[in-house]
Amino acid sequence: MAAIGFIGLGNMGGPMARNLVKAGHALKVFDLSAAAADALVAVGATKAATAVDAARDVDFVVTMLPAGEHVRSVYLGSGGLIAAARKGTLFIDSSTIDIPSARETIAAAEAAGMMMVDAPVSGGVGGAEAGTLTFMVGGSGEAFARAKPVLEKMGKNIFHAGAAGNGQVAKVCNNMILGISMIAVSEAFVLGEKLGLDAQILFDISSTASGQCWSMTSYCPVPGPVPTSPANRNYQPGFTAGMMLKDLRLAQDASKMARSPIPLGAQAAQLYALMEAAGEENIDFSGIIKLVRGEI
Ligand code: NAD
Repeated sequence: MAAIGFIGLGNMGGPMARNLVKAGHALKVFDLSAAAADALVAVGATKAATAVDAARDVDFVVTMLPAGEHVRSVYLGSGGLIAAARKGTLFIDSSTIDIPSARETIAAAEAAGMMMVDAPVSGGVGGAEAGTLTFMVGGSGEAFARAKPVLEKMGKNIFHAGAAGNGQVAKVCNNMILGISMIAVSEAFVLGEKLGLDAQILFDISSTASGQCWSMTSYCPVPGPVPTSPANRNYQPGFTAGMMLKDLRLAQDASKMARSPIPLGAQAAQLYALMEAAGEENIDFSGIIKLVRGEI
């Protein structure tokens, strides 16, 4: 079993770290919130005094932080993880961050003779708790092969997306599809409703016809057709509109960098930004249907 440093024990990192403890790994944990670290200590982890302390004398370091600036500040520079860890430590950053930050951090790790992968996830807090996350991994084949057994304790589908940063590319592309398709499904169900078409009947037809997609069949934004969807619990998340907005803004950055236009992705970002402006960023992103209905 491996010695693992784990930094960032929030909604996602907390349950991911718990699954590594459950699998028998020795965890050294750190979070700016002492309460988050204490919750892991209660299930068998050791508390580190600082992020750098969590990265010393371990085989792997996993980070699950909010955004690119946090990842850069934790890893880079003379006081960062890369400088502090012993040679041979493999870094796994599972945060969803901008592609340049991921590539810059991995390049810095490699320049210091370390291995690192970007490994953002899909599957949300439920997937983190159940250990069924999908990992999209960017980095060398050797780094991927070393990271995989650790990732398998936290997830079910582990994909090698290619070179450094490609995990973030896959994540941004996937979530842009999700953000756009949820708006499309919401518009269709509101239009059908206003024209007298029962939501269940539209679901029965479209879910077996060419309009079929995950936003409809697994996460339907109207209550009823998919009993587990957030629509049935007043749009409690799930995956918040604020998180979707973050990912769509990352998609816009990526679009500028690649000079690849994303007119619908850009429009989707503006619609989720309207939810944020209305103070609704903490409801599930499928609550965008309320915006379409004119309720927010
Ligand atoms: P969170 O805000 O719940 O957790 C982030 C944690 O990082 C917090 O506990 C915070 O105290 C800690 N932290 C911040 N800066 C730190 C530092 N310098 N050192 C140590 N700890 C620090 O966020 P989350 O929901 O767990 O999301 C984490 C990442 O996963 C984000 O990049 C997010 O976009 C991504 N993600 C989230 C979801 C989801 O459904 N929540 C799904 C997929 C991906």
